[in-house]
Amino acid sequence: MNLPIQVGILNEASDSENRVAMVPEDAKKLLSRNVGILVQTGAGVRCGYSDLEYQSAGCNILRDRGEILSHANVIVMLGRPDPQDLDIIPPDSILVGQIFPLRFREIVDKLVQRRIRTYSLELLPRTTRAQSMDVLSSQSAVTGYRAAIVGAYHSPRLMPMLTTAAGTVKPANVLVIGAGVAGLMAVATAKRLGASVSAYDVRRAAGDDVRSLGAKFIEVGLNAEGAGGYARELTEEEKKKEKDMLESAIISSDVVITTAGVPGKKAPLVISADAVKKMKAGSIIVDAMADSGGNCELTQRGNIVNYNGVKIIGLVNPPSDAPINASQMFSRNVLSFLSIMIDKDGKLADPSGDDLLSACLVCTDGRLTYAPLLKEGDKK
Ligand code: NAD
Repeated sequence: MNLPIQVGILNEASDSENRVAMVPEDAKKLLSRNVGILVQTGAGVRCGYSDLEYQSAGCNILRDRGEILSHANVIVMLGRPDPQDLDIIPPDSILVGQIFPLRFREIVDKLVQRRIRTYSLELLPRTTRAQSMDVLSSQSAVTGYRAAIVGAYHSPRLMPMLTTAAGTVKPANVLVIGAGVAGLMAVATAKRLGASVSAYDVRRAAGDDVRSLGAKFIEVGLNAEGAGGYARELTEEEKKKEKDMLESAIISSDVVITTAGVPGKKAPLVISADAVKKMKAGSIIVDAMADSGGNCELTQRGNIVNYNGVKIIGLVNPPSDAPINASQMFSRNVLSFLSIMIDKDGKLADPSGDDLLSACLVCTDGRLTYAPLLKEGDKK
């Protein structure tokens, strides 16, 4: 008789990570698929879930990380495994996480070498069927909210207009650069705080989204929409145009929130040191893309740089700063993904038989399968 699949939930290794990949409520739902769940002690404690809650849901709690890595057949995590983890996970196990294979090639090579079948959730297509598994959207929504709140907190100004006996306070001017999922959430949050909000994106289609939230869209005469509705990298000429057209909006803003990204690439530089030099003292830049290199030339990941009175805040892993809700949403995405990966009887699906599974498969059976990394030599 085949033993049931064991799903492993880890205490995430990084210091900047407060989230957990699966919350007890979803673990309980997953258990109905005839699987077992092993949870590392303290996995949910930084986002409000005790070991007891996992235990009550039906999970087994294990103290030793190595024991989970070596006994679970399916390991679910928020990010990437540690190099030491990779030496312990047995061949032919399955890993579900966010690998960002173009940025972390050495981890991919090790996963291939160790024959670990790896699904990277950020590679899921943005299709209707994949919507409930879309970790990029769920976590970016948290990022946008956090970026707006951090901007409001650090700004020496109030966000809303106030009419008082002591005079009228003008609303703060907030500019959001990059109006994808995170940017639109930042726009909506800054609007709710009462700021006067404008936003810019290289995709012209983002203009309708921005305007539908009651904010102003800044047109610079570009439309850099590439494959799959994502932005493409700008040409040198387009970058110059963007810089020239955007500068006056940047220097007249009290708070600038940047969320501009191009899939698989370093974050584009949209605010030069020169533009920061022209900003008023007391202005704030919240760079939500610091983890991907930053949108501002002066950003330092994890630091607040004070440049002539302008604060540039380089956010680190922003979803981890609202770990309760970020974990709930990530967990729901994972549950939805696992329900196509594991059938109702607890049997694993073949990745080649499902378009979503094959879209986010990075490697399997000791073979690299992620197309952008497949060089001629890798193709068999
Ligand atoms: P992202 O995180 O890759 O990038 C954030 C934003 O930065 C994007 O809007 C991008 O256009 C913008 N950007 C890139 N370079 C820029 C530059 N130089 N200056 C200013 N802005 C720049 O994007 P995302 O939030 O993941 O969304 C990307 C696309 O996916 C959007 O079209 C979005 O509507 C779409 N989407 C679809 C679904 C769905 O379910 N169908 C879900 C989520 C997102």
